[in-house]
Amino acid sequence: VHSVLAIDIGGTKLAAAVVREDGVVVTRGRVPTQPEKGPAAALERLLGLCRQLIGEAGLTVDALDGVGVASAGPLDARRGVLLSPPNLVGWSEFPLVFTLEEGLGRSVRFENDASAAALAEHRFGAGRGLDHLVYFTLSTGIGGGVILDGRLYRGATGNAAELGHLQLSYDGWPCPCGGRGCLEAFASGSAIARRAREKTGRSTLTTPDVVEAVRAKEPWAVALWDETMEVLGAGIASTINAFNPQRIILGGGVTAAGELLFEPLRRIARGRAMPALAKGVDVMPAQLGDDVGVLGAAASALF
Ligand SMILES: [Zn+2]
Repeated sequence: VHSVLAIDIGGTKLAAAVVREDGVVVTRGRVPTQPEKGPAAALERLLGLCRQLIGEAGLTVDALDGVGVASAGPLDARRGVLLSPPNLVGWSEFPLVFTLEEGLGRSVRFENDASAAALAEHRFGAGRGLDHLVYFTLSTGIGGGVILDGRLYRGATGNAAELGHLQLSYDGWPCPCGGRGCLEAFASGSAIARRAREKTGRSTLTTPDVVEAVRAKEPWAVALWDETMEVLGAGIASTINAFNPQRIILGGGVTAAGELLFEPLRRIARGRAMPALAKGVDVMPAQLGDDVGVLGAAASALF
């Protein structure tokens, strides 16, 4: 059985696991990122964790069949560096992949985390057996990944499928990415909470609070949610028209809203997409939950 080392780089934690080719997690662990202490110290903690996990799995570094690392973008996959990561200030241009390769003595596959998640859902989760998938992660931000003809589409620099930055309004709300009218700036978890706070004047509202208020049929929340679903549905319909997928898979914290989210998105996305492409597309929840980070990194090393 092939096994790989999988590493998930995040703003609050660095997670690692030894994962088998069938998606079984053999050993796993995490250490805090502490981004304020800089990337070199974090990588030292991470390498220590990796060596420990490899030993616990009864393996050696040389016995591994690959190493995959996934991180929030944007990144330069060829040079193995992050480019101005918003949640890892001070990590920009740090030789992340080089440091891991030196520390482990193995080559490392570097992947955008949302693309890695798409690959993991394709191999181990809600997209098994299908060749054409679009994956969205609806979280603090909105990420995406696209599987075409059974393969992850990576693009020229490894940043393909930044679906949170589909520009749905040509002169709309400004987005930190430099664009306007981006999906993420309107419909991400943090954007939903921000819009709710602006609308109600209640400064402590979170996205789960909004979902609760929608369930309680509070008119301001229902109106805000309906508008959010229209925009998200339009974004999903655009990807149906662009890629002709068999399935849309939605993961991330905002999907905890369940059918309150999936029912309108299914209806709106199918209604807005071109009929020939909308036919037969389903919109389904991701299946891998909290494991998607390390399984994504593993899938990028395995496939
Ligand atoms: Zn944007």
